[in-house]
Amino acid sequence: MRAALLTAPREVSIEDVADPAPGVGEVLVRLTAVGVCGSDVHFFHEGRIGSASAAYPMGLGHEPAGIVTAVGEGVSGLVEGALVAVEPGIPCGRCEPCGRAKPNLCPNVRFLAQPDTVGAFQECLVMPQENCLPAPAGVSAEACAVAEPLGVGLEALAISGIRAGETAAVFGCGPIGLSVIAALRSAGIQEIITSEPLEARRVFAARLGASHTIDSARENVIQAIRDVTDGRGVDVAFEAAGEQETLDHTIESAAIGGTAVIIGIPREKKMEIDLHTARRKELPLRQVRRSNLKTAAALELLAREDIPIEEMVTHRFPLGETATAMDLVRRYADGVIKAVVIPSDQ
Ligand SMILES: [Zn+2]
Ligand SMILES: [Zn+2]
Repeated sequence: MRAALLTAPREVSIEDVADPAPGVGEVLVRLTAVGVCGSDVHFFHEGRIGSASAAYPMGLGHEPAGIVTAVGEGVSGLVEGALVAVEPGIPCGRCEPCGRAKPNLCPNVRFLAQPDTVGAFQECLVMPQENCLPAPAGVSAEACAVAEPLGVGLEALAISGIRAGETAAVFGCGPIGLSVIAALRSAGIQEIITSEPLEARRVFAARLGASHTIDSARENVIQAIRDVTDGRGVDVAFEAAGEQETLDHTIESAAIGGTAVIIGIPREKKMEIDLHTARRKELPLRQVRRSNLKTAAALELLAREDIPIEEMVTHRFPLGETATAMDLVRRYADGVIKAVVIPSDQ
């Protein structure tokens, strides 16, 4: 089969690699849509993300969806031809976080597209059956490829503890921020203030149900939030861009006794936190690592017609144009929100 492999910073080579075969309890999936994530773009362009450095050749892509084409021994309930969303993490199941139902924190997790694992920008993928979740009726492969980032939004919602009638702000309306908005809407939150410099993303945020959209390139974000909330701030502020400015806005915009939820992955290891402001509000700073078994819930949300989150997919590329896809996302060009690679189109 063909696989797109990162061979050096900004260089992707399409190579023939061995066809994977499903072992006991495993499923072979022919990939028909794989989302391009910001973390793929960091590996592609900078050769690293956070503290992880790329190891060449390296596969990228961890937001896969596709068709079951073979099942290994012991697999039941999944049939050939089924469309599935693939959860990218394989936790060990034996450690303390796994025992506490937090496999997203498993230190032994094998997650797709890391320096020591395969990526999903390839025609086929073998994963354990538990990682392959059948799509509900009416949910497309492209929509299934959004399940992973949407799962992060749902995990952020769960961690925030937000309750009906409370207010939220979301800083950054990329795929993760938009997923948070969709998750908030699914929980019935009405007042969702968003801040984002790119117009196409603000427009989509409003379409998803954001009650207010602030142009962070032109407006005074904090003043705009004060105006909307009568000076109180919001119950939960979500940081979804990994930038110093959005982190500042998150801490400043939270109400006294509110909560700050930090999701973005910054380039730097250390950033400034305005501890005086946070302390005066006794502000809990909650962080989110990936999603925690939220793919099934994400698929349910993707099946809802009133929250068209799957429309974040704006661009599609064949496997041979994987580098072009990642470069487009890196440049925020052509109104892109989420690009998908189509490794196999049959
Ligand atoms: Zn991702
Ligand atoms: Zn574990």
